[in-house]
Amino acid sequence: MSFNLAAMLVEATRAQPQSPALWAGDDSWDYQRLDTESTRFANGLIESGCSRGDVVAIQLPNVPEFLVAYFGTLRAGMVLLPLNPLLTATETAFLLTDARAVVVFAHELAVGAVLGAKEAGVSLVTVSAGIRHDGDDGRFFSDFLSDHDHGGAEVAATAPEDTAVLLYTSGTTGKPKGAELTHFQLFMNCTASADVFEARQDDVILLALPLFHVFGLSSLANSAIRRGASLALVPRFEASAVLDVIEQRRVSVVAGVPTMLHALLETPDRDRDLSSMRMALSGGSPIAPDVLTRFEERFAIPVLEGYGLTETASAVTFNRAAGRKPMSVGQPLWGTEMRVVDNDGNRLPPGADHIGELLARGHSVMKGYLRRPAETAEVIRDGWFRTGDLGYVDDDGYYFVVDRIKDLIIRGGYNVYPREIEDVLYGHPDILEAAVIGTPDDRLGEEVVAVVALRDGSDISAEDVIGYCRQHLAAYKYPRVVRFVETLPKGPTNKILKSQLR
Ligand code: AMP
Repeated sequence: MSFNLAAMLVEATRAQPQSPALWAGDDSWDYQRLDTESTRFANGLIESGCSRGDVVAIQLPNVPEFLVAYFGTLRAGMVLLPLNPLLTATETAFLLTDARAVVVFAHELAVGAVLGAKEAGVSLVTVSAGIRHDGDDGRFFSDFLSDHDHGGAEVAATAPEDTAVLLYTSGTTGKPKGAELTHFQLFMNCTASADVFEARQDDVILLALPLFHVFGLSSLANSAIRRGASLALVPRFEASAVLDVIEQRRVSVVAGVPTMLHALLETPDRDRDLSSMRMALSGGSPIAPDVLTRFEERFAIPVLEGYGLTETASAVTFNRAAGRKPMSVGQPLWGTEMRVVDNDGNRLPPGADHIGELLARGHSVMKGYLRRPAETAEVIRDGWFRTGDLGYVDDDGYYFVVDRIKDLIIRGGYNVYPREIEDVLYGHPDILEAAVIGTPDDRLGEEVVAVVALRDGSDISAEDVIGYCRQHLAAYKYPRVVRFVETLPKGPTNKILKSQLR
């Protein structure tokens, strides 16, 4: 077995050429079309002079062209570098240069791409997703495909350990680094994830998470193709429109970071028929118990929580529908081991009293950070990857993520986990969104600050919020300061950006 990701699409197409592969707006694509167009894309790259192992950047939202470029690049034996279309020219140029990309395919909305590509000296320039293009050297995506509309480039032979995708992440510290994810790693991860959430050929999986993030790319897109299921692509998350897509496309699996599930939960029902949904997947950041419970009640489906990182090609642990433990992130995926260690690296026993850093080992772990051996050696030792997250394991082998190490607040010598306070805040009927951070304090080292967005029409005061937290939390933990905001800042996947709050 080659564990080649491009071969996965070829296999699904051979088995079911006419089955739907994706929906985008009113457009629907069957497997044959996705396979044919990605073959043309592979031809285009090869005939434009790109070689095996070259890095091909794409800066696209969730449009069909993303998947065409993804599978086309892999088919040609090249490496895909997916970038956020909202990056500035400087950010784009940095990543293109660092990854040594040879070409970038960008959507017209990716304003940074054209300038960034020029700044980085990337040879072949932007191709728009078929709407409009700027600059003398731009070409339409559709022309790029039709110019190479002839027989098929065979899937290039790859070794399991060959890098398939480069995903940039800041990791726990520092500048963005390119996590090298291999064919084997991504193949195993989507196979194990599809197994956990029992992905079926007749599933329609909601893809509102960006494809340029590991959750969307590996857990959802790859898992869907692996099982011959179809994807409902949403280029920009807007809760009410997403509920319409769920109804229209009969979506069966809804996946998102908790802020997305929360937004769906908060959107009034207009008598939509949402009966096609069979489960929701949550990951990327902690889901508050109140949000999880209310989501399950409103939509009458289970929410399965998983946990993972860019460096682990998405999920490391997941809950299964049978035997799930709400508020736990579940058990390690097949072929992945986890452990909890103290500051000296000693393994801790099970139990909520034994909080330590979570480590992971197995096929989930990346090859390393691209051309950064020192940073790689810092996070991978003897095959064990340091996640930078704090957690514990219970007696049944279920893992619990308590918080990120860097978000931990040390107040007067006591460890305060912001997540625990956020979980309490989300239980308050007037609070829509909340995040807890530490601010420097002369006496205590750090003080606990809650940043809160209230529901429309609420006029509760900071004292009310503090009083509520006091009822539910020990004296050393509850926030002494409350700041009110309209909304909390969020990143490309809709995760709350604590760095901006600080
Ligand atoms: P990223 O590399 O952007 O995917 O971010 C990975 C980080 O997201 C992890 O290190 C965790 O801090 C966080 N994360 C992912 N899933 C969960 C989860 N289910 N609960 C809590 N934190 C999570």
